[in-house]
Amino acid sequence: MLELDGLSVAFGTKPAVRDLSFRVAEGELVCLLGPSGCGKTTTLRAIAGLERPERGRIAVAGRVLADANGSVPPPERRIGFLFQDFALFPHLTVAQNVAYGMTRRQKATDAGRVESLLDRIRLRHRADAYPHMLSGGEQQRVALVRALASRPRVVLLDEPFSSLDASLRGGLREETIRILKDAGVTVLMVTHDPEEALVTADRIVLMRDGRAVQTGTPDALYSRPVDAFTAAFFGAVNRLPGTVERGEIRTGLGALPNPGFPDGAPVEVLIRPDGLSLAADGPGATMQVCSVHFAGASSLVRLGPDHRAPGHEHFHARLPGLVRHDVGEPVRVSIDRDRAFVFGPPR
Ligand code: ATP
Repeated sequence: MLELDGLSVAFGTKPAVRDLSFRVAEGELVCLLGPSGCGKTTTLRAIAGLERPERGRIAVAGRVLADANGSVPPPERRIGFLFQDFALFPHLTVAQNVAYGMTRRQKATDAGRVESLLDRIRLRHRADAYPHMLSGGEQQRVALVRALASRPRVVLLDEPFSSLDASLRGGLREETIRILKDAGVTVLMVTHDPEEALVTADRIVLMRDGRAVQTGTPDALYSRPVDAFTAAFFGAVNRLPGTVERGEIRTGLGALPNPGFPDGAPVEVLIRPDGLSLAADGPGATMQVCSVHFAGASSLVRLGPDHRAPGHEHFHARLPGLVRHDVGEPVRVSIDRDRAFVFGPPR
């Protein structure tokens, strides 16, 4: 439904988006994820027609919106938006705000559209209220259905939950996704929050410096990252050096299968905190417990060669539930092979 081919956008001589290509299928929800300044918003603005691409092609449902030959003006693109500040028009009622994006013809032929959208967000009884009379969460829901009112084929969401406080965010996110899925609309959503992307997206496009680093399902990016940047983007990781010896990756915490590096090559091994196991004996290396922090569903254990030398290289293990280890206690630390990633040496 949405196709980007080799999209590049620059501000003066400074590239913001470089040779970006991906597709979003009909009814699919794709998240554009990445650190601040990596070009997510610029990509969305180019799709909306608010930035002019330097190169590349943007198409929706097979219709070219922008390429080397020209550009379709924003109002003719049939794209809905919900941006971070979701500003509703303060002088219009809730119903008037929702109807705002509809053409005169749609208002005439699609009677009942506004009421049915307000029903979906349980706010029909507030149709005549003004935005300032609604809570932040209610305003956000109105802004969402306003973006859907004109029956766009594609909806763009830019950090739609970031201005809401944490207690509202989870519930509203679920409701928003349900409404978007029920509408069958194709969605491209920008977020810098990896957890938000993991729980909401069908697929994720992870960006860095204007380029796509990896595109795939949440599970693929989390469990099979293509590089150390991707692995570390989804949460703190333990890093340790390794070498390839006789077909295996040797590390200070034991051996791992070699994904294909030549013998003698130096590699970097990344392990999520839940990929380290602690035992009284067995394989791995002996370390001391430096600290234990209980965090409800899990405990974080800091490990190092000597608990009295805090500056030394240390590791973090996340273990389920409450763990009972004393500071200074020796433990055997080993790697869960399925939760360790091996990459070439850092550049
Ligand atoms: P954030 O999550 O912080 O919003 P982002 O990934 O959405 O970041 P963009 O807003 O797309 O990033 O910005 C990409 C780059 O382009 C940044 O370096 C930014 O400073 C630059 N940039 C964005 N808009 C403009 C502009 N109008 N003029 C000049 N430079 C811009």
